[in-house]
Amino acid sequence: MDTPAVILGVRNASRVKVYFREEDVADFGKLYTFLDDVSVYQSDITEAGIAYLTRVGLVRIAAEFETRGGFPELGHVSAQEIYSFLTSLKPNQARQIMASHDRITDPAERGATVREPCDTCGHEFGAHAVIANPNQKPLYRRGFMFCPVAGCDCMMTWQVNAGTRT
Ligand SMILES: [Zn+2]
Ligand SMILES: [Zn+2]
Repeated sequence: MDTPAVILGVRNASRVKVYFREEDVADFGKLYTFLDDVSVYQSDITEAGIAYLTRVGLVRIAAEFETRGGFPELGHVSAQEIYSFLTSLKPNQARQIMASHDRITDPAERGATVREPCDTCGHEFGAHAVIANPNQKPLYRRGFMFCPVAGCDCMMTWQVNAGTRT
């Protein structure tokens, strides 16, 4: 897949890598879906993405999303709460969580055989780290998981209500 010049966001799933460009988020409906995914680390916003939001206007975006009901799963409903959420966004947050996590350099040192292999990377699936935004309401829990083996780029999204991972 061609990598676009200006990437505003990246969907965090190793098998299907999707980049968000300006035309993908220029519509407020699409921008809402994108930011909803970012809030639970299913997608990452880049520095260019944050610069784009600032250019559109954080106050304007917050006001628009307030009329759409905000982000009730996270308790960001009023324009003020949405504005705080927008200003708290950090670039590539899921990637930074991965980078700050202790990684296993030798999978064998975990002991013995791989019990249930991950169908993406082949390392032990049970060892994959599961990450979620702690502010989420339990009914809607979504997030991402990644393989703890150093150098492994295996990453996938999950959600509890649908019981699926992608
Ligand atoms: Zn792996
Ligand atoms: Zn894996």
